[in-house]
Amino acid sequence: MRFLLTNDDGVDSPGLMALAQAISELGDVAVVAPEKEWSGGGHSITIHKPLRIREREAPGERIRVWQCSGSPADCVVIGVFDLLPEPPILVISGINLGPNLGEDLTYSGTVSAAMEAYICDLPAFSISIASFHGPRWEVAAEVAQRLAKLLIGFPKRLLLNVNVPNCSLSELRGVALTRLGRRRYRERLTKGNDPFGRPYYWIAGEPEVEENGEGSDSQALEHGFVSITPFFLDLTDYTMLARLDPLRKELAQILLPS
Ligand code: MN
Repeated sequence: MRFLLTNDDGVDSPGLMALAQAISELGDVAVVAPEKEWSGGGHSITIHKPLRIREREAPGERIRVWQCSGSPADCVVIGVFDLLPEPPILVISGINLGPNLGEDLTYSGTVSAAMEAYICDLPAFSISIASFHGPRWEVAAEVAQRLAKLLIGFPKRLLLNVNVPNCSLSELRGVALTRLGRRRYRERLTKGNDPFGRPYYWIAGEPEVEENGEGSDSQALEHGFVSITPFFLDLTDYTMLARLDPLRKELAQILLPS
């Protein structure tokens, strides 16, 4: 049995290597990861230029590592359709440096790689550690290993987003099944002038939790729980679909010549 691993922090991320080592205790591991960082790269795929891969030295016997010039989603495609001799039993993306909560899922290359696996009909989860400073990789790697063990043989339409509090294993309060909360960024745009006097913009801001109510991913993390959110790619707003229903007739006629 074989696992496919990727991330968006790049092939040299210690989080990815900690994950590879932990998962290799369960089976063979193929790592296909971007050669550079893709954090914030979302579900990008490369369609206008060729991609290159290069095999790297592996940190363990049951591990093979390839770096790829493309995005995390590209890595999944290349792993699944070429590098692996058979479909992986599970695709894991991470361990990401920093949490991926609420709206982050739309920006995250880590989560998007898991989405790509889901599109390829493979069970997948993304995993992130909830701190940018002093990440306890070994704790998130242990969580990933235990979760992977549990998920072996699970139905293939499975897509989970996992966040692990940055504490020791014994300090974890448990595991919570959660829904996505809301998280936005404030002061997200900085404008300045470069040395040539031309304006530049820099997008970066502090995340602000807008909604961390009962059952949300943010709340679980705040309370010291590993957060597991099952999700899918149906972005339909069913409430709005129902609210717009009375306009169905008018909408149908909106483009017809009167
Ligand atoms: Mn990242």
